[in-house]
Amino acid sequence: MARPDRRVNLAVARTIPPFLLCVCVYACYIVTKPLCIDYLIRPLPKYSRGSRVGAGIAILVIFYVLIFVVIITYLRLLYNITRNPGFLPRSSPPTKEQQETEPSERPQRRKRKHRRTRTAEKPDKADIDIERGADGNADSGAIPLDITGLESFYTKDVFVCQEDGRPLYCSTCCRYKPDRAHHCREVDRCVLKMDHFCPWVGGVVSETSFKFFIQFVFYTLIFCVFSLIICATFTAEIIQDTGGANVHLAIGIGLSSLFGLFSFGMTISSLQLAMWNLSTIENLNRRSAVWTLAIRVPDRMLARLNPESRWAPTFRTITYPLPPVPLSPEAARDYQPPEKQHVFAILQTLPGENPFDLGSPFKNLQQVLGYSIIDWFLPLRQSPCADRTTGDSFYELGPVVSRLKKEAGLNPPPEPQPTTQNDTERKHKRRRSSHRQSQE
Ligand SMILES: [Zn+2]
Repeated sequence: MARPDRRVNLAVARTIPPFLLCVCVYACYIVTKPLCIDYLIRPLPKYSRGSRVGAGIAILVIFYVLIFVVIITYLRLLYNITRNPGFLPRSSPPTKEQQETEPSERPQRRKRKHRRTRTAEKPDKADIDIERGADGNADSGAIPLDITGLESFYTKDVFVCQEDGRPLYCSTCCRYKPDRAHHCREVDRCVLKMDHFCPWVGGVVSETSFKFFIQFVFYTLIFCVFSLIICATFTAEIIQDTGGANVHLAIGIGLSSLFGLFSFGMTISSLQLAMWNLSTIENLNRRSAVWTLAIRVPDRMLARLNPESRWAPTFRTITYPLPPVPLSPEAARDYQPPEKQHVFAILQTLPGENPFDLGSPFKNLQQVLGYSIIDWFLPLRQSPCADRTTGDSFYELGPVVSRLKKEAGLNPPPEPQPTTQNDTERKHKRRRSSHRQSQE
């Protein structure tokens, strides 16, 4: 049965979009009728003022352009949240034999789930602990020894893993989770780079919608600031002229202040997260999170991992594909590993390091907003980070991963320095002179 707070979240999520629509319709009425028509263009006799047609029309044009932009970004956001939400398909539950490999895990998991609570906008820390462990990663031994679906991980060069080298696992969806995916309680599915469940937009903000969410709250902020300025200015004027305020304009001040403050907070926090290349969920323990990463050991180094080699690696390794489990002792004896093996070093970041931080706030913003000014301001194209065509990792990785590779000795050997033209000429001269000397 659904827990009350989850039901409340879902009910609020369904109520708020129609409520916002009503607010928009009322805002249009306030600016069009009581302000522009009845006060500026054809002032009612009670105002005893001359007609100001130019000001009225200018305000109407700016107001309707801004509200049009807000509605377009909101519809784009709603479209992605409903049509392309970034949900991961569920897998079939593990077999009885696989479940028997984790005798003590499930009761403990159930007990911890009861402690979970979450507010409407913010996922709580306990959710992260269940999937990633207290140090930011999954508990080892917390999952059935399922080997289905691993190919999409070990064919990459780097992926987030547990301490034993297997990817993180969602026991509700019964599947391995790609980097940065999170199980959303409200929709009961794993979501790619989930940011938060947002009742204001009626769904989950994730990698496919975070860009449009930022654009929506940013344009809402501009719209609210404009509405607040015009309502406040003309309310002050009316009070001066008549001694009383227009009730619709006063409500307009209240509404634009309220939504303006809310969208200001959301714009600043969303842009900050995008500049750090973090999701709201990752941000909850960003100062202490330790990421465990499986980083491919280059083929040229595999011979050095041989036990007879004199090189002692500083890391543990895991080799994919994993053998099917459970294996009987006879089957284990006869098991022949496949010819093509993928060996990964299991490395950990320092607490608070973010492997997805590309090293500059601008580069991180580009991952969400896009590479051109048009992409930044128009709600047209998807975020570059949602592009799944590049294959080395689920998301672009930054200097932290380069440092880990370097420290573990996994980087390719330095390229030979390209010789300059002068060096080449000098070499030729030296060769010619030595040739002459030998002839003499
Ligand atoms: Zn899940």
